[in-house]
Amino acid sequence: PYRFRGRHITVAGLGVSGVPAARALHGLGAHVTVVNDGDDDRARTQAAELERLGITVRLGEQAASTLPEGTELVVTAPGWKPGKPLFAAAAQAGVPVWGDVELAWRLRGPDAPPWLAVTGTNGKTTTVRMLASILEAAGLRTAAVGNIGVSLLDAVLGDEQYDVLAVELSSYQLHWSSSLRAHSAAVLNLAPDHLDWHGSMEAYAADKGRVYEGNRIACVYNADATDKPSTEDLVREADVEEGCRAVGFTLGTPGPSQLGLVDGILVDRAFVEDRQSSAQELAEVTDVDPPAPHNIANALAAAALARAYGVPAAAVRDGLRAFTPDAHRIAHVADVDEVAYVDDSKATNTHAAQASLAAYESIVWIAGGLAKGATFDELVASSAKRLRGVVLIGADRALIREALARHAPEVPVVDLDRTDTGAMLQAVQEAKRLARPGDTVLLAPACASMDMFANYNRRGEAFAQAVRELGA
Ligand code: ADP
Repeated sequence: PYRFRGRHITVAGLGVSGVPAARALHGLGAHVTVVNDGDDDRARTQAAELERLGITVRLGEQAASTLPEGTELVVTAPGWKPGKPLFAAAAQAGVPVWGDVELAWRLRGPDAPPWLAVTGTNGKTTTVRMLASILEAAGLRTAAVGNIGVSLLDAVLGDEQYDVLAVELSSYQLHWSSSLRAHSAAVLNLAPDHLDWHGSMEAYAADKGRVYEGNRIACVYNADATDKPSTEDLVREADVEEGCRAVGFTLGTPGPSQLGLVDGILVDRAFVEDRQSSAQELAEVTDVDPPAPHNIANALAAAALARAYGVPAAAVRDGLRAFTPDAHRIAHVADVDEVAYVDDSKATNTHAAQASLAAYESIVWIAGGLAKGATFDELVASSAKRLRGVVLIGADRALIREALARHAPEVPVVDLDRTDTGAMLQAVQEAKRLARPGDTVLLAPACASMDMFANYNRRGEAFAQAVRELGA
């Protein structure tokens, strides 16, 4: 185990991971220096609090680019880009760099609960929460932690006792992890996202694949994926413990060592308790909320991890039934004049929007925002036949409009030349005009929200508010 006492440790970044990391390391007797590029009011307040404890804090771009003299270890906030000068300096000096997850893993106690880990481009939060719900239904003490708003460090160092943790990991967190060894892990899917950060699709996939390293029981992969590299490729490349199995999930009929669907039933052919039979029924598709294809895939992945941990079939069913989706993820807001209004504001990239567009037959689609370098041809081409109409908002709407002109020229498009918050009300009114009874008006922007809103929550709330005004 790493000895922290007396070590000179630099924590890169204040904020949700940096402040608790600095406190924990200081508490273990390390000499802690925190560097942070911003020096706004919030940073100054946080800095003052840490300084009162005896922790050194240096604020500003210059400070955040310089490795403090004598540093033996850097613990970084996961979002810091690998290209930053601080990391070049660390590499030069032979100083290791850990992320928040690596730190939590190293600080966990000898009787620490095993981790069931989930990563992927989309569906992580949903899957981790489904998994926690299933584990709870099995009577286990557990929590959904990690990149989900509950700090791993708190879970690892807190007083609460857990049997097992359901851990959501982002590609950034995995990039900065090296010794993590999960009980079992799943990569849900791989589609281009955050490529500006990782540098390339290969680098992004490789960082996701780190979640499989050292797995003991099962590496869960998406057997339906057609992308290259596939999540199965990542399993093949990983260095796992002897006896660890590759377990696929599929929306088709499962093969041996897979979980999948047979006549609307979620079926497990990987972890079958009864030696006389080759398959175990887990739950019905209608036990999953919402029962959209991508979400059933999430449920199968969660079930695979729970089953790898030894959870009985009945608990999988009970846990899925008890699960309710988080806000702004394909949330049904209201029916107005026989038209359903659905909020999938969390669809912040094209892969996510594709999943929700595939879940409805006849759609008035509200889209647009910040594209983050994405292209929209594939998304539009694959969804064209389900579109009754489209309403575009936000900064990068021209990219979507041009893709629509190429692949869906007959679909009516209302291009609201607006990026103010009030545009959502007008967008919903325009969508209502385009919709026919039986249609779904779907907010699935395929873009980030920050051009118009503080975050995707605010965007979804604005949509729901606008729908309520329609109904009134
Ligand atoms: P993450 O934590 O990975 O961002 P979430 O569970 O919060 O994922 O879901 C984000 C959005 O991604 C959802 O609103 C939905 O549009 C989409 N989504 C969820 N699961 C999947 C999946 N398995 N495949 C593709 N898209 C998905």
